Amino acid sequence: MKLVLATGNKGKLREFKQMCQEEVVAFSELLGEFDIVEDGDTFAANALIKARTIYEKLGEEYLVISDDSGISLPILNGAPGIYSARYAGVGVTDKDNLYKLIEAVKEKGVKSTPAYYTAAIAIVSKYGEYVVHGWMHGEVIDEIRGDKGFGYDPIFIPSGFDKTLGELDDDVKSKISHRAQALALAKPIIKMLKNK
Ligand code: IMP
Repeated sequence: MKLVLATGNKGKLREFKQMCQEEVVAFSELLGEFDIVEDGDTFAANALIKARTIYEKLGEEYLVISDDSGISLPILNGAPGIYSARYAGVGVTDKDNLYKLIEAVKEKGVKSTPAYYTAAIAIVSKYGEYVVHGWMHGEVIDEIRGDKGFGYDPIFIPSGFDKTLGELDDDVKSKISHRAQALALAKPIIKMLKNK
């Protein structure tokens, strides 16, 4: 069975390729680019929507993996949460979302505030569907520091560190991230399905 990633997000693709020992291909290499409507109301529901959509187009020879993820701030009642990719509107860039979150934090009158990333990874194959989760806790600050990572990384300081993910090396993030935690749970499932 061939492993396909149901994501067009370049940051996620780079991280998956770095963390996966298996050979993984982006769905766009097989099917071209297209948008998938993510209208679920949880990370898990949206991850399943993405993986099912690609699996239905590719068929039984494929094992499709998707990631739905985002950042949540308790001070904003959990926002942007599942709307992280479209926090500043539809068709916006990661930078637009980042600046909007900085403004929202400033409006609360704080310089930093607790936050956490969530990742739901869905696996869809002819043997069934699975979803696992991972989290990374830390603080969001009201200014950009560093240019590594992607998305909200330049304002996120993971617990136990004093630098943002924009400043820390990629290999630090790949050990502690929400995506790494979820992938650690997904790997034995992928192995089991591949060996069936
Ligand atoms: P999705 O592709 O619909 O799952 O949207 C995920 C969004 O959440 C991305 O566009 C980023 O804004 C944000 N996000 C998820 N994971 C990360 C991460 O590891 N670093 C920074 N931003 C992230």
